[in-house]
Amino acid sequence: MRVLIVGAGPTGLTAAVELARRGTIADVIDRRDAASSFSRAVGILPYSLEILQPSGVTDKLLAEGIRYRSAKFYNGVDNILTLPIRSDSRQSDYDFLLGLAQDRTEGILKDAFVGFGGAVRYETELIALTQFDDQVIATTRGGDEAKYDYVLGADGIKSTTRDCIGYDYPGFDLPETWSIADVDVEGWPNPTSFTNCLLPHGEVVIVVPLEAKRYRIISNTADALETLPLDMTVTNVRREGQFKISVRQVDSYQKGHVFLAGDAAHCHSPAGGRGMNLGISDSADFARRLVDSDLDGYTAARHAEGEQAIGFSERGRKAITSPNPLVRGLVIAALKIIAALPFVQRRVVQTLLYG
Ligand SMILES: Cc1cc2nc3c(=O)[nH]c(=O)nc-3n(C[C@H](O)[C@H](O)[C@H](O)COP(=O)(O)OP(=O)(O)OC[C@H]3O[C@@H](n4cnc5c(N)ncnc54)[C@H](O)[C@@H]3O)c2cc1C
Repeated sequence: MRVLIVGAGPTGLTAAVELARRGTIADVIDRRDAASSFSRAVGILPYSLEILQPSGVTDKLLAEGIRYRSAKFYNGVDNILTLPIRSDSRQSDYDFLLGLAQDRTEGILKDAFVGFGGAVRYETELIALTQFDDQVIATTRGGDEAKYDYVLGADGIKSTTRDCIGYDYPGFDLPETWSIADVDVEGWPNPTSFTNCLLPHGEVVIVVPLEAKRYRIISNTADALETLPLDMTVTNVRREGQFKISVRQVDSYQKGHVFLAGDAAHCHSPAGGRGMNLGISDSADFARRLVDSDLDGYTAARHAEGEQAIGFSERGRKAITSPNPLVRGLVIAALKIIAALPFVQRRVVQTLLYG
């Protein structure tokens, strides 16, 4: 069986690994000239660790990642809630949230794929797909053509695969500009906690530990570092940037023998940390169904899961970024109530980890 995976982000690489460990080595192409050193996602949820355990990837993620102990919420500079991140639910062997910069997650996935005998072909850009009854011809820039039985488009938000099969990407774009900074820091008091600072007019700043003394700061304002209300001793700014957020999902994840997964099929804000994890589970599901000849149910299963994740992320985003003083007041009051009630804390963490 010949399979083409378009895109070597976390989604495409997971599909490659999950197929390889079942005996199918796919062709994996990416238009970049090398593996990414650009990290977006950090949080790896229990179900992703479960999925990646049989391939040996999870052990490597655990060896490099940080286990987050808590999520701290500040109203301005006042710490109003410290939520211990453990659920005691025994729903998974990995009942916690792991943090690792996305470029390292991709590096570990890629090494696993190579270990199974695969290779990623960089500087290879898909430009066209032609479908016949049971075959797809993929054309890459430069004009090379190859025949495949199946194609998986894991080529991100601006997916060429999605364009090639003529699918729209219904949804909307958020008007505001978000910002991100990766910084080296001395003496930050929360090295194993997410720090969430809520400010009066709906601004939010989130500080996420990446590794010892290295932190990611994200905000729904144009300058995350400037907006952070807490004192932070930044010794080096590795990267600063701005980004826009879209909230979109395709109606169908498949057309003939071409399938979509990850950001090519759905996108939303980083609130709730679902994006990369959802792509990982799309791919694992695709790989299992392909090997089990069970692809017909792929769209129904993945669309429902994607819709749920987008709903979860949007509820979280709206709650923490609302400029309405009444909503802001209610959110702060709710966080204070959660701080006083350990059994509610466990329910909240359960939802954060398992949806
Ligand atoms: C600031 C920020 C923070 C985030 N934080 C989190 C988080 O904490 N947790 C979480 O789960 N998610 C998070 N996300 C979302 C997460 O980063 C994405 O959901 C994830 O990267 C999607 O992976 P992907 O493999 O589907 O797509 P991508 O990572 O975009 O990979 C697509 C790949 O396809 C390649 N490609 C594109 N077009 C072509 C073509 N025509 N031919 C060949 N190759 C092509 C690209 O070069 C790229 O390598 C965050 C996102 C942002 C922006």
